[in-house]
Amino acid sequence: MRVQLVDVTKKFGGFIAVDNLNMTIEDGEFVALLGPSGCGKTTTLLILAGIYRPSSGHVIFDNRIVNDVLPKDRNLGMCFQSYALYPHMTVFENIAFPLKLRKIPRGEIVKKVRRAAEVVEIQHLLDRKPAQLSGGQQQRVSLARALVKEPGLMLLDEPLSNLDARLRITMRAEIKRLQKNLGITMVFVTHDQTEAMSMADRIAIMDQGRLQDYSTPEELYNRPKNLFIANFIGNPPMNFVNVTCVQEGGSMHLRGPGINLELPDYLVERIGRRIRTQDVVLGVRPEDITLSGRAENCIQGEIYLTEPLGRDMLVDVRFGNERFKVLAPQKFRGQIGEPVNMYLKLDKIHLFDKKDGFNLL
Ligand code: ATP
Repeated sequence: MRVQLVDVTKKFGGFIAVDNLNMTIEDGEFVALLGPSGCGKTTTLLILAGIYRPSSGHVIFDNRIVNDVLPKDRNLGMCFQSYALYPHMTVFENIAFPLKLRKIPRGEIVKKVRRAAEVVEIQHLLDRKPAQLSGGQQQRVSLARALVKEPGLMLLDEPLSNLDARLRITMRAEIKRLQKNLGITMVFVTHDQTEAMSMADRIAIMDQGRLQDYSTPEELYNRPKNLFIANFIGNPPMNFVNVTCVQEGGSMHLRGPGINLELPDYLVERIGRRIRTQDVVLGVRPEDITLSGRAENCIQGEIYLTEPLGRDMLVDVRFGNERFKVLAPQKFRGQIGEPVNMYLKLDKIHLFDKKDGFNLL
């Protein structure tokens, strides 16, 4: 199913929860709505579900305006925390319920329920009642119940939030595989950027009711449009420091406390020679910095802390009043207070306009 939101606004009294949202979700696409608490993701999902009517704008499913179509007539599968399971029915009956309503033959129901239960790893729980399940198990039953209908559009609200870390990773992969195999259009809400990055074809990032960007995980990661997105995407997050971009003779430098970096010509070209002196925010990801002893066009600092992450070593480096996190190889050794030089991969840095936060590169 192809889904379009056209100029969609949702107000609660005078408060604008969703502000003029425009986005298209292609047939068979897997889209994550991502953003901090209160940014309007759940409201958007409830508008797609038909539980909320937009204050203005249109919701379009396969070229048909559905603003006034009831949730039950929208060909949806929903997996919301508020969509409780039926307490008097077993897990099997709960999952089978939407199929029974459709009068599907018993043999086929059994097959479909078993398959959905296997996907979410609850095949051993089919005879239990919801009260005999953990929160995470209930969540998986609710997911299976939505999946079994093979709807045109599936809406998921934080579908993995109650699961432990191991199961979350397995389920992430299983849901993605299933979505691709069945070709169901799926929209899911999450505030977990790793979850959004690993599962979605495209991510819609919202802040304060507004769409900040809507793009592929790679694009958002490699070319964040503004500071908000740069800050939100990536774990450990991008490092930021205020610097001044200064043009001197033929070369351009980034200057700040403890920083004097000469930019290579290709970056100067990209920024545009129009910039003479400008306050900017330098952003660099922890994996785009290397530590070494050579002291040339680098930032000199000292080790503040080292944190072994297993595969990598996360090194906190202090310079002036600032700190950068650096992803170093596992074998990196350094004592607290030891001087280190940080080499920024200059083709990977980001420069943001200090006033409006837009990426200048
Ligand atoms: P979270 O991750 O915390 O669930 P969210 O991004 O899903 O956040 P929404 O639930 O969409 O956020 O809420 C967006 C804003 O609209 C919030 O400020 C919220 O307080 C407000 N809001 C949501 N529902 C209502 C309502 N029924 N009446 C009044 N305000 C509401």
